Order: sequence, then C-alpha cells, then structure tokens
Amino acid sequence: MVLHEQRTPLRLEDRPAPEPGPGQVLLRVRACAVCRTDLHIVDGELPRPKLPVIPGHQIVATVEQGDRRFAAGERVGVPWLGWTDGTCRFCRTGRENLCDQARFTGYDLDGGYAEMALADERYCFPVPDSYDDLQAAPLLCAGLIGYRTLRFAGDAERIGLYGFGAAAHLIAQVAVHQGRRVFAFTRPGDAEGQRFARELGAVWAGGSDEKPPDELDAALIFAPVGALVPVALRATSKGGTVVAGGIHMSDIPSFPYEMLWGERSVRSVANLTRRDGEEFLLLAGQTKLSVEVQRFPLEEANAALQALRQGQVRGAAVLVP
Ligand SMILES: [Zn+2]
Ligand SMILES: [Zn+2]
Repeated sequence: MVLHEQRTPLRLEDRPAPEPGPGQVLLRVRACAVCRTDLHIVDGELPRPKLPVIPGHQIVATVEQGDRRFAAGERVGVPWLGWTDGTCRFCRTGRENLCDQARFTGYDLDGGYAEMALADERYCFPVPDSYDDLQAAPLLCAGLIGYRTLRFAGDAERIGLYGFGAAAHLIAQVAVHQGRRVFAFTRPGDAEGQRFARELGAVWAGGSDEKPPDELDAALIFAPVGALVPVALRATSKGGTVVAGGIHMSDIPSFPYEMLWGERSVRSVANLTRRDGEEFLLLAGQTKLSVEVQRFPLEEANAALQALRQGQVRGAAVLVP
C-alpha cells in the first residue's frame, strides 16, 4: 500500500520483491501495526517523506534472506529507527534517537504496509515468543516509544496518561507492574475507553476535562493535542514532569508561568534508541502484556487509518498481508 502524495489515499500496487543489499535482511511481513505517526505522514502533518513511500514502522516479519545477524526463518521486529550514521555527536553519546542523519522506517525508507520489506539487520529486534504476530506488532512503536516516554517520568508514583490508545494501553500495564498508580484520561464522555483503562489496572479513569482525585507526579501525553499540555500541567504536582510522547502535536496554547512554577517541567520524546527497544522487549517478554488489537487486511490500510483518525480503534490497529 503506497503513498504517492500526502493527503491522498494509499494505493494498492504490485511490485517485485525488493533486493537486499549488504547488511540488509529481506523480510516476509506477518503483521504491521498502524501508528498515529503513519496518519501524520499521510495527512501531511509531517513534512517531506520520501515519495512514493510504503508506510509502516511496527513490522513483525520472518527473515526470508538473512545476512550475518539473522538466519532465514527467524522472527524479527522492525521499528521506526531504521538507520543512523553512528558518527555524529548524538550517536557517539548514546542518543542515536537524535541523529541528524537518521532514517526512519515508513518515512525515509519503505516500511511494512506490504508483503515483503527490507531492513538494516542492525536495527531489527528479536521478538519475544510469548506474543503472536498480531500482538507483537504494536510493541514495536506504541510499546517501545511509550516505554521511553515512561522512562522520562523518573520514579513518579502517580502517573497520568492522556490519550488512551495503543501506547497508553500498554504503558498503563507496565506502570502498574512497576508499582505506580495510573490515572487514565480519555476523550470526554468516552465511557468505553475509561472502562478499558480500569480493566488494565488504572486506579482512576475520566475525561481529559476532569480533575483527577489526586495530584500527578508525572503526566504522559499520547494524544496529538497541544491544548492538553496546560491541562496536564494543571493536574501535575510541584516538581512533576509533563512528557509529550508523540512526534507531532497541535500548537500549545499560552499559559501563565505560575503553572510551570514549582520546578515543573515539560519535555518531548523523540524517536527511540536501540537500547530502548532491547530493554522494553526484554520487559515485555518477562511480563505478559495484554495487547488489544483490531485486525485489518493489508489492502484495507486506508480504512484502518480512517478508523484511527476518528478515534474508533480500541488498542492498536494491525494490518495483515
Ligand atoms: Zn510509531
Ligand atoms: Zn548520528
């Protein structure tokens, strides 16, 4: 499923299987989860993707042809971070997520909305056996970047999650497992979403317009809505952190300094490092996370994107070729 021009639907095309170069693996895609970032790319909110591009950066695949690291038949996951230069000051200091030359899967490189794909073997992960292909797919971005977002909450005990979609439904379980208390914020009036959050261990769930019963030590924002930054700050205690977990957000309205006062901080999370992936997938292998997926055939990728656009996906949408 190919994007030729932003703000137009993906097109179903038949292409010959790609040819792997040195260090690349040829993959047979088993499942590819749909991320909100895919929607930002298709809808033109993220500028300058390679065009045409095959979106998709939460790929679970079996290796058809390996190079050095993986053998044919092994199951691997491919995340958003597809390549870095390894030499810039960010790469050399453990911050490859900030590499200026980084290339991203499904954006600068063709991704997983396809039957076959290529990936640089150094950026692939082994996938824990305890998840089937569909369940494993959302771990690769929703889980992984959600985990990086949670890391920036430090040792916060009371965690607010704004936007209870693919990332939050996984990270809520990780946070509960770590002994934190989770407060889930959904779209106002989304009783079903709030019930879902409580099922996954949230001690409280309500609308983003509601005040939680307790102050938060950290708030993680997974919805692309800048207006939630002052809302989350208002719910956050002195010394607390508001972390924006998405790659794109609408503008943040101005707010009085008093809301930031008391050593509160606001920060973003950009991309992932391979270390985040290894840590998170290890944790996901040890703690069985319940992964809620909605399955779509690959050729219905546009319908899956539309469902996400309209907030109609419970958990994560996953495409299956
Ligand atoms: Zn993503
Ligand atoms: Zn670099």
